[in-house]
Amino acid sequence: MSLSKDQIQRYSRQLILPEVGVKGQETLRRSSVLIVGAGGLGSPAALYLAAAGVGKLGIIDREAVALSNLHRQILYGTEDVGRSKSDAATQRLSRLNPDVEVAAIHGSIQAETVLGFVRGYDLVLDGSDNVATRYLVNDACVLSGTPLVYGGVVGFRGQVMVIRPRQSACFRCVFPEPPAAGEIPSCQEAGVVGSAAGIVGSLMAHEALKALLGIGEGLANRLLVFEGVASRWREVPVRRDPACAVCGDVPTIRQPVAIEHPICVEVQQEGAWPRSR
Ligand SMILES: [Zn+2]
Repeated sequence: MSLSKDQIQRYSRQLILPEVGVKGQETLRRSSVLIVGAGGLGSPAALYLAAAGVGKLGIIDREAVALSNLHRQILYGTEDVGRSKSDAATQRLSRLNPDVEVAAIHGSIQAETVLGFVRGYDLVLDGSDNVATRYLVNDACVLSGTPLVYGGVVGFRGQVMVIRPRQSACFRCVFPEPPAAGEIPSCQEAGVVGSAAGIVGSLMAHEALKALLGIGEGLANRLLVFEGVASRWREVPVRRDPACAVCGDVPTIRQPVAIEHPICVEVQQEGAWPRSR
């Protein structure tokens, strides 16, 4: 497999980096990433991964583009309002980089189907906006051994963590139980700054690219928190919990199980919930 003249030009500014080079570029072309949620986090992440030449991107989202999405969901334009996000995202990403195969799925993550989706990809990026999906995606990634980049954002604040199944803390190790109703704001109540979603989503793409290329230090066992009002970064050390229900020494979750959860949230709060270590 060799790069065409156009590809050499397109990727020239990353090809000259010793960490990437032709070998790294070919690795990216052979790689696939499933992006769960094509919203405020999935938008910048998908754009950067497509632009970098990741060979296959899976995008799963069940919603249509709304006018109130556009201040942060930079995959879409005003003319896309009312279209399904999966269709609009496919068109935008293909226009950005025709080298990339985009597999768009209009739908939501379900307990019965999540393993099938996750197993087809080298890495999963979770930019979803609800608690039930977060646990399902985490469990499917742990059960299938698929690396996962988790990110969340609300208001001016966001957080990112990389999950190396059974090697580093998983989402359940850090957040063992879903929050109680009222403990965190619902989607309807929570505002979000587009640029904060851009910072977190871009960092998620950055971690995904490093993981695919096998370079640098990743955010495994490190929950990186962005405090956007003060513009400060904070790192919370976390570790795998031997008592974790899915990645612990005696796991009780052996297949993804749906949890009924009414709360839609894009960032987990520290304190009583989650348990941060
Ligand atoms: Zn765990």
